Amino acid sequence: MYRPPRFLFVQVNKRCNLRCGHCDFWMRKDDDRPNYVLWPRQREILQEFSELSPSGAVVICGGEPMLDLEDYFAITRESRRLGLKSLSVVNGTRIRSEYVVRSWVANEEPRRSFRMPVILG
Ligand code: SF4
Repeated sequence: MYRPPRFLFVQVNKRCNLRCGHCDFWMRKDDDRPNYVLWPRQREILQEFSELSPSGAVVICGGEPMLDLEDYFAITRESRRLGLKSLSVVNGTRIRSEYVVRSWVANEEPRRSFRMPVILG
């Protein structure tokens, strides 16, 4: 019996602004960014995933994915438009910015709460 994938992992970047001892993302610089999948194709992939798994979840990963907020919120907005859940683990360093808070509010339905696990490295 066919079972659709429950999760689609999207890696936004491969760099980080913290320096956890068990991790090497902070030593990377995203210098292969020109090879990353461009937004139009990312959007198609999200669409394809929503058709395969209408109740699936998109997991936004990095590095630290919130270092690239435009990319981050483009994925959350598109996931929401397609009826998908979106999840991510972030290091919390960008959450204090007003832009982030405004974007969260703008991206959430009025009465819907969101849970965001924060793991500090
Ligand atoms: S916050 Fe996460 S990605 Fe960044 S260095 Fe620590 S474990 Fe690695």
